[in-house]
Amino acid sequence: MTLVLDQDTDVVITLVTPAAPATAAPPDPAAEPAQRTLRTRVYLPAFSILAVAAVLVAIGWVDHWGGNDFTASMTSLRVVLVGPLSLAIIGVFLVVERLHPAQRRPIFARGYRQDLLFTALNATLVVPLVTALTISFSVLAQRWLPWLVLPRIGTVPRWGAIAAIFVAMDGLNWFAHLANHRSRLLWRFHELHHSQEDMSVLTVFRTHPLIHVSYLIALIPGIVLLANGALPITLLVIYGGVVAFAHSNTNLGFGLLGRIFVSPNFHRMHHKLDGPQDVNLGFALSIWDQLFRRAVFPTPETIRTDTGLPGRPLIVEQAGERPRHFSVFAAQLVGPFRPVPDARDLRSPSRGPLSR
Ligand SMILES: [Zn+2]
Ligand SMILES: [Zn+2]
Repeated sequence: MTLVLDQDTDVVITLVTPAAPATAAPPDPAAEPAQRTLRTRVYLPAFSILAVAAVLVAIGWVDHWGGNDFTASMTSLRVVLVGPLSLAIIGVFLVVERLHPAQRRPIFARGYRQDLLFTALNATLVVPLVTALTISFSVLAQRWLPWLVLPRIGTVPRWGAIAAIFVAMDGLNWFAHLANHRSRLLWRFHELHHSQEDMSVLTVFRTHPLIHVSYLIALIPGIVLLANGALPITLLVIYGGVVAFAHSNTNLGFGLLGRIFVSPNFHRMHHKLDGPQDVNLGFALSIWDQLFRRAVFPTPETIRTDTGLPGRPLIVEQAGERPRHFSVFAAQLVGPFRPVPDARDLRSPSRGPLSR
């Protein structure tokens, strides 16, 4: 954060100094804040994401959540995120990554402690936010686009509909993730996830709360096939478990199954410090990356690759002699709204256009 503030100061000096005559009195420091434009203080486009979230929450609130039981939905989401089964799965993965790590790390590495803060944030404030966004988006989609919801198709068994929802949801998560990397605006919210230098299973929770706005499109398959089946909570827990395991510091590639599912070694390539990060975008299935020629399969040389962002554009807990977890946590959440120098490319390290 200090670095960004210094950059702010540089901007002000650059704006003020050339305009001042050589003999003029030094500028009054008290007048500086008034001379700063809004653009030098904040990254204005980031507020559009905040606005979308606020509008969705407000509409849902006024609409009484379209008659849905908000509390029950919130409880279901909390069960998926941090219910007993989810915590048991995460607990097993935490042990597995200690036994067969990709990179040796202290058991209480700074990154692990920081991601615990994000886990707590998800279990508390993010659950009601995502519940509100999910209900509001679903209700509005059904109300404004009623043709989206297919009638019951008698020939399709329930398990077939559930499988279709699962695969399509994962595919749309892939596209939303790609957008996170290709859009400068979305990348500002997604770079927090990529800033982790001590990957662990808890890194799955290291996300900005507002990034969930970009993943709402993944709800569409469930809305389309609403009359034919719905994803059971157990399946959502397993889905979350697969995505969490992909972030674990485990040296595991899944062998031939890696052609279907995202393994820790496969996803680590996505977080690679010195490589393009808009590859291996898959959540649970690796088929989308292969289909769109964005799959980079791990090799023995890449397994232990370092992760994070070159030049640390967002403050990380690994910087400095002391970790200062809470102030870094606050700065990371405010990060997307902070101004950036014009010269900096806001997008993620990229391998180039999709058509390559
Ligand atoms: Zn990413
Ligand atoms: Zn990731």
